[in-house]
Amino acid sequence: MIELGDLGSWREYADATRAGGRVVGLVPTMGALHEGHVSLVRAARERGDVVLLTIFVNPRQFNDAADLAHYPRDLERDREIAERAGVDALVVPTLEEMWPGYPHPVATTVHVAGLGDIFEGVGRPGHFDGVASVVAKLCHVTGPSRAYFGEKDFQQVAVIRQMVSDLAMPVDVVACALVRDADGLALSSRNVRLSPSGRERALSMSRVLAEVSRGAWRVNEARERLRGALRDAGCEVAYADVVEPSTLRGADERDEGEARALLAITVDGVRLIDNGPITLRGGH
Ligand code: AMP
Repeated sequence: MIELGDLGSWREYADATRAGGRVVGLVPTMGALHEGHVSLVRAARERGDVVLLTIFVNPRQFNDAADLAHYPRDLERDREIAERAGVDALVVPTLEEMWPGYPHPVATTVHVAGLGDIFEGVGRPGHFDGVASVVAKLCHVTGPSRAYFGEKDFQQVAVIRQMVSDLAMPVDVVACALVRDADGLALSSRNVRLSPSGRERALSMSRVLAEVSRGAWRVNEARERLRGALRDAGCEVAYADVVEPSTLRGADERDEGEARALLAITVDGVRLIDNGPITLRGGH
């Protein structure tokens, strides 16, 4: 694995890789790597890509200063995990290179209206502006044929697909399945901030998602079950909803077939999200 120090050598490496006839696969992350990130690297390797993994804790996607300040960082450990996972090139861009002059406002923002304004966009205003802007920049420097994202951030995948389509960006967005810990909790860099009792409460998300993934539900019954289970566990619920999987439009009583349950809670002051498939049976 090589580590590319600055934007110039990063771009050169990607250009040379493409010129050599190889496909560059981009895996954008914020570090504190875990099996979820490794699964994206694995997916890229399975396709034969030269895997370029970026680690950048992007301040523009944090609307909460405390969340940014507490975001876990461990570059030494990340290097080892990336190397073992088979990353070809590790890029750790500096804040100054990504957003010169930050915290002065950056003039250019990519805003994905609609998809970026709902769910996480409500509770975390500006979050998806930061995400779309950074992913656009990472793609412009790297020129990947494929970019890998986890379904853990289900809305993020939809926002990025919309951006890529609207701006005709020449990149395939590959969505990879959500990876869970042995107890069911969706892997997240933020999980290290949970107390044992907080973790127990947070597990109500994966438990109720497993429950609603079985059988076929009327949408309102499913919504009630999701919200009730989280509240009963003592979670502060940001949202618990059932949506059409690509547009994220709220499902209604006529919808049948495959839908997605989206959940967000706050536990121990940590915002956590999870999601899973659900089958709707429609009717009244
Ligand atoms: P992050 O470092 O949290 O910004 O995540 C970087 C990428 O890894 C995003 O595309 C995430 O969706 C993905 N990711 C994070 N956690 C998981 C997980 N538990 N399962 C699958 N992908 C994940």
